[in-house]
Amino acid sequence: MKDLASLTSAEFKQFLDSFDNILCDCDGVIFPLHKPIPDAKDSILKLRQCGKRLGFVTNNNVGGFKQILEKFDQHEYKVNLDDIVYPTAAMIDYLKSIDFDKEIYLIGFPIMKEEFKKAGFKLADLPDKIEESRDGLKEILKSNPNIGAVIVDVDLNLNFPKMFEAALHLRQPDVIFMTGATDKNVPITSDLVFMGPGYFQQVLIDFTGRTPLGFGKPGLSLSKYVNNRFNITNPSRTLFVGDSLEQDIGFGTCCGYQKLLVLTGATTMDQLSKTTNKEWVPDFYISSFGDINRLIKDKLDI
Ligand SMILES: [Mg+2]
Repeated sequence: MKDLASLTSAEFKQFLDSFDNILCDCDGVIFPLHKPIPDAKDSILKLRQCGKRLGFVTNNNVGGFKQILEKFDQHEYKVNLDDIVYPTAAMIDYLKSIDFDKEIYLIGFPIMKEEFKKAGFKLADLPDKIEESRDGLKEILKSNPNIGAVIVDVDLNLNFPKMFEAALHLRQPDVIFMTGATDKNVPITSDLVFMGPGYFQQVLIDFTGRTPLGFGKPGLSLSKYVNNRFNITNPSRTLFVGDSLEQDIGFGTCCGYQKLLVLTGATTMDQLSKTTNKEWVPDFYISSFGDINRLIKDKLDI
């Protein structure tokens, strides 16, 4: 693991020549979380000028595609719509590819539900509350045979009945189990971390013994989808840039990409130096994505 800024000009040239594609996480890399990321736009332009193809892979399903595009506009980042991947789109494309026509039990944000409905899928109603008695449980225990998939992402109104019913459906082996974002700790401000969906997905995994199809980073299903979307046949010539050790660097490892960690988001230098999980160790780190522009200029005079 090397600090990109510490490379000699020759080493930096070797690094830059070693990949054709750059896949970037968004929040905490090019979209600021709790402090601005100066020069990120210049880095994007410079990398394109150097002949690199850029794609963007976010776990953020909360605002839907419209909000993702608004953020790109807000920061004046030019992007092709096809170059953005997020879990909802990956899941919808997957379900279409298998001609899925049953109901979906979806634990997620309202906008995510809207996107599934717009794509033509029927969503099951989720329980708000149950009577606090054995009779209440019996109501939920009536399983719905029309449900063919359970999807778990962020739901700010998650409750016991929703989890309990999800577990019930997942007892049927032919019900597909899919996860979106798997983040456990989601930084909101510099001193506030949000409890992410990963904790609740783990409860369902432990309880049911099922392994979900992972359509958020670092999921294997997303990995196949991304390689297909970006026509990646030689993963080692792709660089993944992210701020989260588990989601981004773990995804890079899962895909066989090179990995670059930025320190403007979910991970501090202290956390990076203490990580013991080999899959979460990046090849390189840099203080900010915005520094790439300056490094290319300083080291290679481009
Ligand atoms: Mg991030």
